Amino acid sequence: MRELLEKIATEGEVLAGGVLKVDRFLNHQVAPQLMKRIGEAFAGRFCGERPTKVLTLESSGISPAIMAAYELGIPLVVARKRRPVTMADDVYRAEVYSFTKQETNEIVVSRSLLNSGDRVLIIDDFLANGQAALGMTEIVQQAGAVVAGIGIVIEKAFQDGGRLLRARGFRVVSLACIASLDGGVIQFADEVMSQ
Ligand code: 5GP
Repeated sequence: MRELLEKIATEGEVLAGGVLKVDRFLNHQVAPQLMKRIGEAFAGRFCGERPTKVLTLESSGISPAIMAAYELGIPLVVARKRRPVTMADDVYRAEVYSFTKQETNEIVVSRSLLNSGDRVLIIDDFLANGQAALGMTEIVQQAGAVVAGIGIVIEKAFQDGGRLLRARGFRVVSLACIASLDGGVIQFADEVMSQ
């Protein structure tokens, strides 16, 4: 997605430790027109997998995921990092180590929202070491459901997440792929990553 690459190039900021800050259009302020086109792109790439639900992790995955779910005409389920008091104890759980926060969170999804008939499209904003996406695949598997694919807005190809998930047989599509952030310079991989 050329528009996404341009946005990253002009508004992304490289932080220490291989972190890209995109607070001007994805993680803090959100650009709705761009999110709409991201949703259309994911829907186009994954409609053939016949997903029945989109699953993301709060909070940064929600903006692209809701637009993908809207385009596909299916519900969005948001995995929670803390179980709210309104959620019954009847949950699927997985442990996820956060790359940016450097802490382990338990993520939870109510058992009432995913079942063995579901084909689940996992969407997230970033793919770094793959722990968030992997945690979501564990939740899908606990439900006896099928992972229909994994859609990522920005994949950092210099970290291992993409390799890890593809080696496990998941179809991972990322709309922007970054080869390096070395020296504070955003270098894109030549090709949009997909399998
Ligand atoms: P992973 O679990 O793949 O290591 O990291 C993915 C999660 O960490 C994403 O859900 C995202 O919220 C966060 N993340 C990883 N790398 C970056 C980054 O460079 N910038 C931002 N803003 N978030 C990141």
